[in-house]
Amino acid sequence: MNLRTPGPIPLPDDILETMSGPMINHRGPEFAELLNRATARLKQVFDTESDLYVITGSGTAAMEAAVVNTLSPGDRVINLSIGAFGDRFAQIAEIFGAEVTRLSFPLGTTVDPDALRKALRNDSEIKAVLVTHNETSTGVTNDLEAVAGVAKGEFDKLVLVDGISSVASLPLRTDAWGCDVVVSASQKGWMLPPGLAFITFSERAWQAHAEARMPRFYFDMAQYRSYLEKGQPPYTPAISIMFAMDLALKKLLDEGMGSVFERHAGIGRMTRQGIKDLGLSLFPEESVASDTVTAVRVPDGVDGAKLNGLLREEHDVVLAGGQAELAGKIFRIGHMGYCTPEEIQDVLDALAQVLPKLGFATK
Ligand code: PMP
Repeated sequence: MNLRTPGPIPLPDDILETMSGPMINHRGPEFAELLNRATARLKQVFDTESDLYVITGSGTAAMEAAVVNTLSPGDRVINLSIGAFGDRFAQIAEIFGAEVTRLSFPLGTTVDPDALRKALRNDSEIKAVLVTHNETSTGVTNDLEAVAGVAKGEFDKLVLVDGISSVASLPLRTDAWGCDVVVSASQKGWMLPPGLAFITFSERAWQAHAEARMPRFYFDMAQYRSYLEKGQPPYTPAISIMFAMDLALKKLLDEGMGSVFERHAGIGRMTRQGIKDLGLSLFPEESVASDTVTAVRVPDGVDGAKLNGLLREEHDVVLAGGQAELAGKIFRIGHMGYCTPEEIQDVLDALAQVLPKLGFATK
């Protein structure tokens, strides 16, 4: 099967094999060695010298951790949303009692840093800015450096970033751009199965943590910090996935992050060109289109669900549809992590065969 959803993604065989190894004691020396080595390597990928923790949970777990460890009920925050996952970040903050100003931008576009600047000028009480780096639901990458430049550089706010579908695939300079907390999840560019989430935590985030009163137990970063001093996680970890993580991080860093980023840029370009060559339209403006997931408009008159169904049944190609209000309007091709040009060509060839059956004449 050519699994081209934007996570989970297909995994290299050697990474899959690591997960059949026997269990080890997560309070023993072998695990401590693994966790310490992985933590140091994760920091390299996140380009940070801040603290970093591995949580057993999906990406949303780390988003919740980012919120509850830094904020108190009643805190005023700005949430920048360009799609479903941006909205989720706001929802988490609201559920835990933050007063959220939602700055939402049209689907398919990016955050306008000027709008953020205006909103921050208008409300001096804002404590934090929440933003998605790469919005998987619309296939758009925000200019995080510019956004964080306003939030941190100009207004010195706490900056919480959802880097779930960007870190390890797209450049994200956690410290240099002034991001206090960045989260990611294993099933994306990391070449891992779902089940682990990663969270960076700056000195500034720790200062916020000292005052933060939102309820937290499993996600209390203070527990993660004190256990990591012993080379342990606070709770029983997903040991098998951690074996895989150990090898995946080695592979990423052996290749070099510069090369990993270039590879994603290349596969993104190839996908977009192939889509345009078929006569299809990209959902976002090409200049802001993501190099980890390509969102494509379902052509007028074509049934999006049927399109994905035929691709799966006749070509063993699995794409993602649109979420929420984009359901039936777009389809999405994931190309993060371990993805070859041949696999993208296979998707394009399958589209070329299936679309005419649904009434769309490809070029
Ligand atoms: N944010 C973004 C940008 C995502 O792509 C996803 C997963 N598609 C999430 C948040 C939620 O992550 P999870 O499903 O791992 O909880």
